[in-house]
Amino acid sequence: MDTKSERALKGPQDGAQFLNGHEPPRPPPPARRLAIISWTTFSVGVNFALLAMMFVQPSSPSDWFSKARLLPQEHLKKTNGSAPCYNSANRVLCLPRPPSPRLSFSASEHLLLCSGNGHYVIEDEETGACHCHACFSGGHCEQLDPDCHLNLFHGDPTLFEEYWLTQPDAPTVIPSWQGMSYFAHRNNDYLFVDYFLEQAIRKIHGMVGNAVTEGRYIVLGVGSTQLYQAALYALASPESPSPTPVVSAIPHYSSFEGCTKFMDSRKYKWVGDAEKFKRSATKDQPYIELVTSPNNPCGSMNKPVVNGNGSVVNDLAYYWPHYTAITAPADYPIMLWTMSKISGHAGTRLGWAIVEDASVAAKMAYFIQLNTLGLSQDAQARGITLLRAIMSSYENQRAGGVERERQPFFHYGQAVLEGRWRRMRQALDNTSRFDLPEYESSFCSFLGKNFRANPAFLWLKCKAEEDCQQLLKENKIIARGGAVFGMSTQYVRVSMLDRHPLFDLLLARLASLK
Ligand code: PMP
Repeated sequence: MDTKSERALKGPQDGAQFLNGHEPPRPPPPARRLAIISWTTFSVGVNFALLAMMFVQPSSPSDWFSKARLLPQEHLKKTNGSAPCYNSANRVLCLPRPPSPRLSFSASEHLLLCSGNGHYVIEDEETGACHCHACFSGGHCEQLDPDCHLNLFHGDPTLFEEYWLTQPDAPTVIPSWQGMSYFAHRNNDYLFVDYFLEQAIRKIHGMVGNAVTEGRYIVLGVGSTQLYQAALYALASPESPSPTPVVSAIPHYSSFEGCTKFMDSRKYKWVGDAEKFKRSATKDQPYIELVTSPNNPCGSMNKPVVNGNGSVVNDLAYYWPHYTAITAPADYPIMLWTMSKISGHAGTRLGWAIVEDASVAAKMAYFIQLNTLGLSQDAQARGITLLRAIMSSYENQRAGGVERERQPFFHYGQAVLEGRWRRMRQALDNTSRFDLPEYESSFCSFLGKNFRANPAFLWLKCKAEEDCQQLLKENKIIARGGAVFGMSTQYVRVSMLDRHPLFDLLLARLASLK
């Protein structure tokens, strides 16, 4: 490990006092660290041994994936009402049932059973069924309903599922006895953070070069949604007789507005439009500015607008190479990140904040403690596995000089999104109904090339003065209207992150709007 990454793995060195009876957030002392490492090495070893005993794979998942792709649907059949058998290239494949109903089939088997358009769910000892994703039906989810309502209202990042379905080395099966305590380590309530997760977080930011973590505290939350609330709690001025205004340049991320209003706090209140606030604010007025960059909904690289005496929360959910060029490590006092938009695991509900100031980190952790009494150790275990899998996709790439079949994770993600944006622009060329923002290209220090941003959302403006959300709805595309982002109804936001058959359907529907 080079000295830079060694330094990045070290937490803050100062002994700043933690509030509310907590210890200052710092890595455990070396002796305890050694004990944790030996215990974890032992438990990882035991896990692998158990897993090896439980699963004997008939062939490697990547083989199965290509078979699944080639398998004609008419050859799929079920026999005996129990073990499903498949006829592929004159070979009958009968898949073993998982040893426990709680354990799912392997990824490749899901692809075989449900055509990649659903998940196979075991219902009891003898039966199971494909639970098809939206817009798909049929026993094997083989039929796409061409008239279905395309729900692209949320930024549900399911496009990455295909990548993970073909990753044999990234399962997370957590034994019943593991992670039972509220605390990630015995005798350690260190911000409820698993030491290995913290290491993985610091390491992946170091590898990508998108954030400074050296000397900063890591606070975990149930998604960055909870961390945003924790940041508001930590930053709202306790002395102020009136609630601290929360502002953000428009168009701003809609859910944080909803969340702030819902909290209905006496300490802070949603004011919205940062430009407008700047014009009316007095010099010393406290405020909290939310800066989302790349921005949700429009993908712009935002900077603070107010530049006064307030606090800034930088939401960097999309500052990863699949969405935008990494031009420099982000270096702000409070940075929010989420597993949801890195790997696509929104359901894991895991986010982290990189925080410069010890007392702000402590207050945020105190909020997490009172709000949800820490966060799931299962989610943390999954986070460790996923971040390590992403990093090892690069290590394996370099190892042995052997050409890998699959691109490493961010290269893969960037190529998929770039392809989607190219096809989206072609589709929009067929219609004269919409305007789209222009995105500049920049040099990405991680991917080593120039490219134009590939935002997670399509931010459309209807050329005619009409309700753009309504126009899409009439064409069976459910999307989020401009008003909740502080803009007019002429704007609409559409997710670019859904599964590929639905993305294809979106292109066809938009292109047909004459
Ligand atoms: N910030 C931004 C900019 C987002 O787009 C999202 C998800 N749509 C979030 C935060 C919330 O992320 P999480 O799933 O971690 O709560």
